[in-house]
Amino acid sequence: MATHCNLLQQFIRTEEAEFRGMIRHVPDQTQTLPSIRFNSNQSGALDSSLGRLGLIPAELLLSVLDLLDLQSLSRLSQVSLLGKDIIESLPAYKEMIHHAPETLAVLGQTGLLSYHSAALLHSTLRRSRCVSCFAFGGFLFLPTCERVCFECLYENQALRMTSPTMAKQCFGLTDDDLERIPVMNTLPGTFGLRFQFAHKRVERLVSVKQAKELAMVVHGSAEELVKVMPRYCPGKISMKDAAIFRHFHEASLDPPACDLSRLPRKADVAEDDFGGMASIRFPYLSDTGAEKGFLCQGCLVTYSNYMQGVLPESTLSELVPADVGPYRPLLALLTRLWSSNDFLEHAKQCYGVRRLIGSSRS
Ligand SMILES: [Zn+2]
Ligand SMILES: [Zn+2]
Repeated sequence: MATHCNLLQQFIRTEEAEFRGMIRHVPDQTQTLPSIRFNSNQSGALDSSLGRLGLIPAELLLSVLDLLDLQSLSRLSQVSLLGKDIIESLPAYKEMIHHAPETLAVLGQTGLLSYHSAALLHSTLRRSRCVSCFAFGGFLFLPTCERVCFECLYENQALRMTSPTMAKQCFGLTDDDLERIPVMNTLPGTFGLRFQFAHKRVERLVSVKQAKELAMVVHGSAEELVKVMPRYCPGKISMKDAAIFRHFHEASLDPPACDLSRLPRKADVAEDDFGGMASIRFPYLSDTGAEKGFLCQGCLVTYSNYMQGVLPESTLSELVPADVGPYRPLLALLTRLWSSNDFLEHAKQCYGVRRLIGSSRS
């Protein structure tokens, strides 16, 4: 165990500069964080019953409460002493408040808290894998409440966000249609996955995945949906927007189940205008504790060696598939988060870790 801890500490990279364009800091958590504290003046006046909810058998009541969102649970906890006791003892409520308070604050600030049940948030907290590639995922994608990794946020078009106007145009949807999916309010700040841009105003965004799923229902089938895809039209639809629409239509709703940086890059992929604006670092909670994933110090060495032109050809060919340019898979190494178990396995094979061990011995 001591060896494992030493290995982790020696080869993990603690600074996470690559994630500077994601939602990370919450200016005022007290504003929207569901409160489990009681005002002492208020508590004397509280009823000790659950009102009508008290008529429901206890086991059923717990199931019902799990289906409520955190905002509703928080409100319920503040109207009755018994409600407070019951809700504070719910694992979903307790563990989210304890391990991911920033996430709850951001869900509140973006207007998304009421869309996700306590049970859904809790199950995502308890799952470690990215829904897209199945490797460890260190982020929560806020509109769908799914765990994702950085690279899938960058590569998977289904995990992009877009404006309601673009979503309507792209998928042939109306304002009424869009009321059926979450519309988030962004937080002002500087965002971007690879390149960062200032977003000074609050913007309204929808998830491409949810807009496309909705469009499949509205239009009835994939065959009908493709007919509404807008194409390049001088004066009406720019080449850039036409390419964006095409990629959104081509985005698979099924997980690719692989590292997309290792597949050939698609042509005409536009930079993501809203990268990082709908995802936040999110811990994984197992029975042994919470972890957020580790960046590998060795992979930074590997990348630097490549940039300096000293990475051995044999190592490069192991890391980069033959039909893929080296830049994307090597850059992906810098943002790959590993669970503690996966990291031990990775470190045994990582070229950069071997270099670090070699230089510490010489
Ligand atoms: Zn992934
Ligand atoms: Zn590594």
